[in-house]
Amino acid sequence: MSYDLHTHSTASDGVYTPAQLVSCAHESGVTHLALTDHDCTDGLFEAQAEASRCGLKLIPAVEISTTWHGKSVHIVGLRIDPDSPELKSGLARLQSQRLTRAEEMGRNLAKKGIMGSFEAARELAGLGMITRTHFAKFLANQGLAASVRAVFDHYLVQGKPGYVHTEWAGLEEAVGWIKGAGGVAVLAHPQRYKLTGSWLRRLLTEFKYGGGEALEVVAGSANIGDIQASAFAARRHGLMASVGSDFHSPDHAWLKLGRLPELPDDLNPVWSLWDE
Ligand code: AMP
Ligand code: MN
Ligand code: MN
Ligand code: MN
Repeated sequence: MSYDLHTHSTASDGVYTPAQLVSCAHESGVTHLALTDHDCTDGLFEAQAEASRCGLKLIPAVEISTTWHGKSVHIVGLRIDPDSPELKSGLARLQSQRLTRAEEMGRNLAKKGIMGSFEAARELAGLGMITRTHFAKFLANQGLAASVRAVFDHYLVQGKPGYVHTEWAGLEEAVGWIKGAGGVAVLAHPQRYKLTGSWLRRLLTEFKYGGGEALEVVAGSANIGDIQASAFAARRHGLMASVGSDFHSPDHAWLKLGRLPELPDDLNPVWSLWDE
């Protein structure tokens, strides 16, 4: 068995269509795959069709944007029912916030002389969620920085001209939507928030109190030290453990589909809740 429980498709900021993603994951040896697009479940239907065709187990999922003490924190919901009315209305709100934010990003960048970024980002996003990744691609194509990464650093992070603060869902609110949809809430990539030890403890305490059940111990960008720190946090807070590459594109050398280190064996994997 090979699990990858965090991946993106063109329904948000991934480059593969849902069907391409599933087929690639299958070829890479993944047996259980969660499609976790940002604030959107639109890719799940197509992904399931391809999963049935190639015999891969697809876990219906989503990655919800939340704001916690002014920081963006991502909560993955695994095994959700995408038709849950509560989840659907929550995601609809975030989707409309994404659009409003993108328009404002476009206006702010225009004030700096960068014209047409909203229209270009919307075009790149197609029918999927509009994200900062789409703005980054446009800005990089305009030659404004050497790489997508550099574009983020110069234009799209807090304090830079294209950054617009957004109050996404509340932490407990997002966990509530996931549980209301029959899913399991997983706190994604805990080492990426650059929290001190005491803030991470506070985050995990509130997450658990709100009904959160698992921590993404093996995350795509995590090094050995990050994995050890997350494993320690999972034990301390009594959380189950998840693994996910956060795959967006084959161009990211450090985020390979399904190529993930093993979980430390004393941890309880989140899939122990499932019978298949
Ligand atoms: P958004 O949810 O629209 O704010 O976009 C966030 C997305 O941008 C994340 O899911 C990542 O895929 C991508 N991202 C964030 N920071 C960086 C970065 N420094 N370099 C490359 N991609 C990034
Ligand atoms: Mn992303
Ligand atoms: Mn994320
Ligand atoms: Mn992600």
